[in-house]
Amino acid sequence: MAQETIFSKIIRREIPAEVLYQDELVTAFRDIHPRAPTHILIVPNVLIPTANDVEAEHEAALGRLFTVARKLAAEAGIAQNGYRLIVNCNEHGGQEVFHLHMHLVGGKALGPMLAR
Ligand code: AMP
Repeated sequence: MAQETIFSKIIRREIPAEVLYQDELVTAFRDIHPRAPTHILIVPNVLIPTANDVEAEHEAALGRLFTVARKLAAEAGIAQNGYRLIVNCNEHGGQEVFHLHMHLVGGKALGPMLAR
């Protein structure tokens, strides 16, 4: 069994977070250490530790990450100028919380995708 993270507690509303959206598949909340004016995490409610653990049965929840990202980007007023959607995996990807999540980051020009 995969180890639960703090994100499971946020999904179950057991610890505080600024939750912006929740449905039966995903939950979205503000990142506690925002790297940009808009920095939202969108997570599947089911615990998928990393991108390496994705299975076909997760496709509905993972697709929902994108439709919720589109909706939240529009609500944040950053859709027109653009934004970045990021999923980090394991050590080289810089993943810190092992509950797969999509970062929605925007509100300023973000620069190159990777350090050159
Ligand atoms: P990653 O490096 O992709 O695993 O990103 C994990 C993100 O989770 C970081 O941007 C953290 O700031 C964020 N984070 C960690 N704990 C919390 C929390 N309790 N509430 C909101 N965001 C969190």
